[in-house]
Amino acid sequence: MQRRALALKREGRVIGFVPTMGFLHEGHLSLMRIARERCDLLVASIFVNPAQFGPNEDLEAYPRDFERDQALCEKEGVDILFFPEAGTMYAENPSVWIDEESLSTVLCGAARPGHFRGVCTVVAKLFNLVLPDIAVFGEKDAQQLRIIERMVRDLDFPVKIIRGPIVREADGLAMSSRNKYLSVQERQDALCLRRALETASELYRNGERQADALLGAMLEIIEAVPSAEVDYLEIVDDGTLQPIVNVDNGALIALAVRMGSTRLIDNEGLENV
Ligand code: AMP
Repeated sequence: MQRRALALKREGRVIGFVPTMGFLHEGHLSLMRIARERCDLLVASIFVNPAQFGPNEDLEAYPRDFERDQALCEKEGVDILFFPEAGTMYAENPSVWIDEESLSTVLCGAARPGHFRGVCTVVAKLFNLVLPDIAVFGEKDAQQLRIIERMVRDLDFPVKIIRGPIVREADGLAMSSRNKYLSVQERQDALCLRRALETASELYRNGERQADALLGAMLEIIEAVPSAEVDYLEIVDDGTLQPIVNVDNGALIALAVRMGSTRLIDNEGLENV
């Protein structure tokens, strides 16, 4: 991959990159379309990165369908599909990791120790292999996106990060490969994430600026669903990801909710009105 990328760069090609863990859906494909418009060679990767899964997480169960993914990539005009094996991605005893120390300590980082270390390290490795000029990441994983932006800033990676908006199912559930785990009932119940975000946004539009009040209204909606268990629910500063009390400068509502054994995340930015 790296040899090919180097040759392409010598030819002056602009490389666009969309890293994924596969089991592709419209959210992933939307990122490919965004990248496609800004590059003349599009690389997508599929790699279920062991380093970002905790010991009791779903690494083994993570859904995979390589043939379908390959066909979708072809349809989206992906020029190179990079799908390394874990054994070739990592040296036998790797001892260098990338640890982001601020944004990673909250939200998903607090709930999943070591997760963002795995994410940063694999994304840095993928950048070194694919040598992209631009890379597109989804707002669905808002914290991940901000951490990658920080890594690129602090370590001077020569790549421009582009944010892709969240793509949702018709009923509002944010698309995710993990939605496949949901039972019919859980899939229905999972709409409480979106309902909670919509309610908070509406209260905000109507003038509510107290984070506590917005969070209370959201919690009420989620707690009314028996199968839902809140992992975290926070209103944070979009830049620092630290909790805020008065929402007057724009903010990010971020939540993670367990539906049975499936952990779903969603988020929404509050723009000033
Ligand atoms: P994943 O395969 O879950 O690692 O995701 C790969 C990329 O797709 C990440 O940048 C995600 O943020 C992005 N992504 C996943 N789901 C969505 C979605 N529903 N809308 C937009 N981007 C998404």
